[in-house]
Amino acid sequence: MADSNRVEIAELVAPSIPETAVPGFVVMAHGKFYAVQELEGDRLFLAEPRGTIKRFRQKTGVVAVGDRVLVTELEDGEARIEAVLPRRSVLQRPGRGPAGTQQVILANPDQALFMFSVAQPNPHRRMLDRFLILAEATGLPAMIGINKLDLDRDDALDHRSRAHSTFEDYESIYPVFYFSAKHRIGLDPIAAALHGKLTVIAGPSGVGKSSLLNALDPGGNRPTQAISDATGKGRHTTTSARIYRVGPATFVADTPGIRSLAMSSVTPAELDGYFPEFRPMLGGCFYADCKHLSEPGCPIIEAVERGEISRGRYESYRALRTGDPD
Ligand code: GDP
Ligand code: ZN
Repeated sequence: MADSNRVEIAELVAPSIPETAVPGFVVMAHGKFYAVQELEGDRLFLAEPRGTIKRFRQKTGVVAVGDRVLVTELEDGEARIEAVLPRRSVLQRPGRGPAGTQQVILANPDQALFMFSVAQPNPHRRMLDRFLILAEATGLPAMIGINKLDLDRDDALDHRSRAHSTFEDYESIYPVFYFSAKHRIGLDPIAAALHGKLTVIAGPSGVGKSSLLNALDPGGNRPTQAISDATGKGRHTTTSARIYRVGPATFVADTPGIRSLAMSSVTPAELDGYFPEFRPMLGGCFYADCKHLSEPGCPIIEAVERGEISRGRYESYRALRTGDPD
């Protein structure tokens, strides 16, 4: 990894990265400027990429939120991006340029956290399934966070919590965390899961995403205000991703538009591969092109009938496979 970084740096800006350049992390885009969080300190720079980078990065976008960069400080908190390190992963969507152009929404995500709440608003399982498919298709490890545990009540019928009975189908497939951000219940496991990583967080509004970030880091670094101040503009853009630092090396990305992205890149024929619980049975169907909808000799349908695959998950598959809206 270190070696390949060196190659790309050399390609981009040889022969002259100043010795004073420091490693940073692009946390927000603002027009042609980028907010760069210093990695080994607390400074936040407003930075512009140098010309060489602009020329080399035409195809994938010059700089994206999430990029690891080297910056040199100019004056008044302004800085220049000298080099962009190779991306380890990307979350992207088809761009507006020539065919094949991709717009990078977020560079270098390590994992995704899909967040819902026990109530207010009620859980939206179909949306969760779409998010999970996006994560599978992108190769991002996914986790599920269920907030507002304080609103949970025991189910009179079977004495199990409502949250648990809603999400237990997922527990054998993905890590599921139950917590209350507001009441600071159950935060240690989720904090540990985020530690040292860049996590994409997504979920409906009102489930408590901001509350979780605040609970994890009450004095947290919020780039939005600093950048709005630095550029003299009151309003900040919400169309591109933003990264929040919730610990020294722990970052969480808010990516508007991830919901519309969720199904756009997946074709019907590959959908079954994005349900991890189907995978061991794929290839065992009587018909090679089995859609697992009503075909005879389909081990997936049989597993649903035996209760080994959750019916709710299968119904999500069926709705997405047949193009049924919610
Ligand atoms: P976001 O839109 O996902 O960022 O949600 P917010 O963090 O803005 O929270 C939405 C509302 O839910 C606010 O009124 C919060 O006070 C409330 N909230 C957040 N966490 C909890 C919780 O654990 N329990 C309860 N009861 N309310 C919460
Ligand atoms: Zn089948």
